[in-house]
Amino acid sequence: MANMHGDETVGRELLLHLIDYLVTRHGKDLEVTSLINSTWIHIMPSMNPDGFEAVRKPDCYSSNGRENYNQYELNRNFLDAFEYHNVPRQPETLAVMKWLKSETFVLSANLHGGALVASYPFDNGVP
Ligand SMILES: [Zn+2]
Repeated sequence: MANMHGDETVGRELLLHLIDYLVTRHGKDLEVTSLINSTWIHIMPSMNPDGFEAVRKPDCYSSNGRENYNQYELNRNFLDAFEYHNVPRQPETLAVMKWLKSETFVLSANLHGGALVASYPFDNGVP
């Protein structure tokens, strides 16, 4: 999954290229064919398409597109084991939560832009 923050666009492009890579090599490349034939692969290039559209018109003075259309920070819109976020769940968040419950994911990644960060479940608790 990528582009949760609409202004972080590199992950979105990477995942679109990954999709292209996988589908154009299926049946031609043994590893890609085996991977596709033996696993379920889910790819969401953009969790925040409205934010992405907003950033397509940069004004150089603000960070358009980080939030969704309703101006909510989607990265802070999920349930949190340690902090209570008293904000309404956004349609994008609810859709991802439903998606996560519908599949048995064994490996996942959420691509952001900017500094290098590696997060893991429950990594924001108080020590
Ligand atoms: Zn981000």
